Amino acid sequence: MSEKKLNRILRAPAGHWVGDGFPVRSMLSYNNGLDTLQSPFLLLDYAGPHEFPPTERRLGVGPHPHRGFETVTVVYDGEVEHRDSSGAGGKIGKGDVQWMTAASGVVHEEFHGRDFAHRGGRFEMIQLWVNLPAKDKMNPPGYQGILDSDIPVAELADGQGRVRVIAGEFDGQRGPAHTHTPINMWDMRLHAGASLELEVPEGHSTVLLVLKGQVSLGGEAETVQANEVALFEHAGSRIRLQSPADATVLLLTGEPLNEPVVGYGPFVMNTQAEIRQAFQDYNSGSMGRL
Ligand code: MN
Repeated sequence: MSEKKLNRILRAPAGHWVGDGFPVRSMLSYNNGLDTLQSPFLLLDYAGPHEFPPTERRLGVGPHPHRGFETVTVVYDGEVEHRDSSGAGGKIGKGDVQWMTAASGVVHEEFHGRDFAHRGGRFEMIQLWVNLPAKDKMNPPGYQGILDSDIPVAELADGQGRVRVIAGEFDGQRGPAHTHTPINMWDMRLHAGASLELEVPEGHSTVLLVLKGQVSLGGEAETVQANEVALFEHAGSRIRLQSPADATVLLLTGEPLNEPVVGYGPFVMNTQAEIRQAFQDYNSGSMGRL
C-alpha cells in the first residue's frame, strides 16, 4: 500500500454571494484546469459559517436549471429548503444531506428554511457538484433526501473522533447515498491529537476540505488549514492525517470519469453541441418549470 502524494493545497478564494442566502467560497471549480485530478468532482462551494439575523424575507436563490450532474448539499448548521420541477423537495437541517440528481434537467430553487430564517443564527453548508458519466447524463432526474439519522457513524479507535459515512464505505459502515460511480464521502470530526492512517481506493481522485481546525499530512510536512483543500494524486491508497486540535474535515474520493468536461454555468456536458442543446431545452421549458 503506497501513500498517496499530495498534488497541491488550494487556498480559499475570495467569497461571493449566491443569491442573498449563500456566502460562498468556491474551493474547487471545473474550469480551473484540474478536471482530471478532481474528476468526478466538478465544484465544491463552501458557504459560511455566517451569522444571519432573523428575517421574514426568503433568503436564497430563485428558480434556475441544472443538467448533466448531481448537486450534493451537506448542512452543518442552519436549514435549506429546496423545490424542483420533478416535484421533489423538502427541508434539510443540521447533519442532513440532499443528493439531487439533475441528470437530463431540473429547474429548482434553494432557500433558507423558513423557521431558520425567522429565528436567525449560524449557517454553514457545502455544495458539491458530482459529474455523471456520459451514459447517465440524460437519465430522468432523481432526489435523495438523507437525514442525519440515516447516516452511519464509525467511531475511530482510541476516541480519536468519528466519521459519518454519507457515501461509500468506511470501516465496514456503508453510506446511504446511491451514487452513479464509486464515491466515498466522509464527514470526519477529529479530536485534538488524532493521528490516523486512512485507506482510500487506489486510482481515485481524493479531495480533503478542512472546515474547522487544521490537519497535517504524512510526516507533518504539509498543513491544511481551515478553508483550504488538499488535492492528492490518483496513485496510492493510504493517507496519514494528524490533527493538533479538534477538526472538521470532509474527505471525498471518486473514480475519475476520463471523459471530456464541457460546462457552461449550470450545465455540464461532454460537448459544446450538448451545451447549446441544454440552453434550448431550458428556454423551451422542456426541463420543466416550478
Ligand atoms: Mn442549484
